[in-house]
Amino acid sequence: MFDKILIANRGEIALRVVRACREMGIQSVAVHSTADSDAMHVRMADEAICIGPPPSANSYLSFPAIISACEISGAQAIHPGYGFLSENASFVQVVEDHDLTFIGPTAEHIRIMGDKITAKDTMKALGVPCVPGSDGGVPSVAEAKRIGEEIGYPVIIKATAGGGGRGMKVAQTAADMEKAFLSARQEGKAAFGNDEVYIEKYLTTPRHIEIQVFGDGKGNAIHLGERDCSLQRRHQKVFEEAPGPCITPELRAKIGKVCADAVAKINYIGAGTIEFLFENDEFYFIEMNTRLQVEHPVTEGIFGVDLVREQIRVAAGLPMSFTQDDLKINGHSIEVRINAEKLPNFAPCPGTITQYHAPGGLGVRMDSALYDGYRIPPYYDSLIGKLIVHGRDRPEALARLARALGELIVDGVDTTIPLFHALLAEPAVQSGDYNIHWLEHWLETNL
Ligand code: ADP
Repeated sequence: MFDKILIANRGEIALRVVRACREMGIQSVAVHSTADSDAMHVRMADEAICIGPPPSANSYLSFPAIISACEISGAQAIHPGYGFLSENASFVQVVEDHDLTFIGPTAEHIRIMGDKITAKDTMKALGVPCVPGSDGGVPSVAEAKRIGEEIGYPVIIKATAGGGGRGMKVAQTAADMEKAFLSARQEGKAAFGNDEVYIEKYLTTPRHIEIQVFGDGKGNAIHLGERDCSLQRRHQKVFEEAPGPCITPELRAKIGKVCADAVAKINYIGAGTIEFLFENDEFYFIEMNTRLQVEHPVTEGIFGVDLVREQIRVAAGLPMSFTQDDLKINGHSIEVRINAEKLPNFAPCPGTITQYHAPGGLGVRMDSALYDGYRIPPYYDSLIGKLIVHGRDRPEALARLARALGELIVDGVDTTIPLFHALLAEPAVQSGDYNIHWLEHWLETNL
């Protein structure tokens, strides 16, 4: 096992990794930009190293700064968290070239899944059901129109390098195609330096269901059921739960096995998430994320396992600490993302926290790096906390969420807390009867 791990991230996820390290008796090294000198992850880790100025490009994304920090501190492995360098294949290569261990998949797997066209081809070949669409990249508007006619409108044009909900445009009819095609291409080029796009049938009433998988890199893999992340704004998740309200044990066992077998076949190592759209009891693969997800705690909640601990174990060459048969779902878990954002436009709202009080009690987990007096820097993501609850069933989890939200105090900045109070009062949220478009419609009429 490693003696020391460097955490190449910040905020709640850096703290999350520090906590797993401490329970495993592993020393943790935090890295931070000058804007984060007072951050909680810096205070909680065993050591901290400043790696550069506020802009991420010069700090949290800087290969030389992070590799140097490993060399200075003697850390043997790097945990990337999510975002930043977590899905950067070139970084993984550099880490390996320096005889350090990347706690995550191989550069090759990250590369394959990071390109959505290659990912889809790979998954299709592994027997995973996919959304009908173009066979690979679509080079021209004329070709896009031909495919639109073939698969039938509406269609979605997606940048193969896209992520974070960017680089996706819907064409409702042939008349929209040229504009949607060109703007998806342009967004892909501007945000990800790659203008290749592909086309999929646009599903009109799906839920977003994702399967958590885990591999040991030696051909063994398991699945940890699904998360339902259908409540989204601009293709970004805001409320996630496990198990999915619409997924029966039979559906779970079937798709879970397909996913576990697929990743076992490619000798996948570590945590991964295979994302699907789910409509009329059918699953359609959209993409795979080769990292820990923001919403991983809901899976931890229902299975009682520590996914970061497992990531560290398999990276060190140890087996996973449980088998598929050991995994039994216990109750229901829900996460809401607390962002420093001003409603109704969700404009980022950095500032100083004048009062912070975390909720507690049975079945409540607050993953956050906030504290009284903390100054949220304007340079990074607006996620400031995740409130996760667990109950014996969905109604209990919902009641507990409402209770815990009532205890949570975050003063000094605007947050998304009022959004969740309002959502919990909605019959559709209480019954779980919604699809990926529901929240957008609700926001239009209610905020
Ligand atoms: P990203 O990598 O940017 O997160 P994804 O491919 O995971 O993009 O898609 C994000 C979200 O976009 C999905 O959860 C869903 O809401 C929507 N979406 C993606 N593909 C389709 C599709 N074919 N039909 C309808 N909605 C889609």
